[in-house]
Amino acid sequence: MVAGAGLFGLTVAERCARDLGLRVLVVERRDHIGGNAYSEVEPSTGIEVHRYGAHLFHTSNERVWEYVNQFTAFTDYRHRVFTIAGDRVYPMPINLATICAYFGRAMSPGEARALIAAQAGEVAHPANLEEKAISLVGRPLYEAFIRGYTAKQWQTDPRELPAEIITRLPMRYTFDDSYFADRYQGLPVGGYTAWLERMADHPLIEVRLGTDFAELGAAGNVPVVYTGPLDGYFGRAEGALGWRTLDFEFEVLAQGDFQGTSVMNYADEHVPYTRVHEFRHFHPERDYPGDRTVIAREYSRFAGPGDEPYYPIGTPTDRARLARYRELARAEKDVLFGGRLGTYTYLDMHMAIASALAMYGNRIRPRFLRQARV
Ligand code: FAD
Ligand code: UDP
Repeated sequence: MVAGAGLFGLTVAERCARDLGLRVLVVERRDHIGGNAYSEVEPSTGIEVHRYGAHLFHTSNERVWEYVNQFTAFTDYRHRVFTIAGDRVYPMPINLATICAYFGRAMSPGEARALIAAQAGEVAHPANLEEKAISLVGRPLYEAFIRGYTAKQWQTDPRELPAEIITRLPMRYTFDDSYFADRYQGLPVGGYTAWLERMADHPLIEVRLGTDFAELGAAGNVPVVYTGPLDGYFGRAEGALGWRTLDFEFEVLAQGDFQGTSVMNYADEHVPYTRVHEFRHFHPERDYPGDRTVIAREYSRFAGPGDEPYYPIGTPTDRARLARYRELARAEKDVLFGGRLGTYTYLDMHMAIASALAMYGNRIRPRFLRQARV
């Protein structure tokens, strides 16, 4: 049995059915498969929208790339992001074009490096997000592009956030403005849901939607792969793990193009949302209407009970609780915990798939082959 029909659960189910010939029951508490990668067509425009936030596929992992291409082809979309600071627009992540535009003059890579090095020198041993960011981009660029955005995204003083968060964002002294550096990037040609449905489309896989694993009672004597929240599995016995959630405000507008690009960040703290997604720009190859468009404004806040958990926060209290839950999880007989909720880790899609393939290859397959021999 697999609890959760996100990319992790679907990868495990697909491998167990197709490679081992096992019958797999997938229970999913939502009314659709795909987890947070799910997308749907906005009915009045025909535009594919990502209900849980824009999802861009990217990987440098050959094995994952080969695996996903069995279920869908990918477009050649490369993600680019812009950010509005004050009344100007700049490319993001910070690259040579951002630096030249911000300081109002043409600079060579060497000149830009020297300028930023002089501005970044005030921090010798960065110990938190603010110090790390200043050490990478200098104080002026930090204040223009990072401080306000981070405050909105995390609602926590950047001096109390871990330095690693900012290292997810590259800093480049070239004019390369691609958001991701991975070798393979693109969007599923027929949409996310068609891709995810193809993974589940096997006579040995049964998907039961609207079914919460916790309400099933005894699962019977079957091995379980659980991809729901780790603390939820144990009834939050060690306390709740902290998450951030997002609110998406969707709107259909009577105009063909709202912002000219798929994602626009808003760096200033007084703008209440962090970014605006405009979904038509993810698929310029499609024949979408010229007079309407769909946007979503994204707001970030702490998750309360009942909110969708999106980003693990990972405070010291969370980490201490996580260690105790991991011990409980190890002691659980015939249950494997995986995916972003089941491990309380931020995972991109390719990472969720890679770790599901690893769990299948290292734990599940050997177990069933051993059983078959006995
Ligand atoms: P999920 O997709 O969360 O799936 C878990 C499933 O389990 C859900 O469907 C849930 O309903 C179900 N479930 C939970 N509890 C139970 C239960 N008790 N019983 C039954 N079912 C249960 N990755 C990228 O590669 N590129 C991106 O651009 C990108 N953008 C993102 C943007 C946002 C806002 C977020 C939050 C994530 C983004 N990701 C992106 C990450 C991506 O969503 C994850 O990699 C992926 O969702 C991981 O799959 P999963 O199966 O581990 O988890
Ligand atoms: N960030 C920022 N300004 C931006 C974009 C990102 O300060 O315009 C910071 C912010 O702290 C964010 C981190 O960089 O949490 C990582 O950004 P990323 O785009 O990876 O966030 P995600 O897309 O995962 O929400």
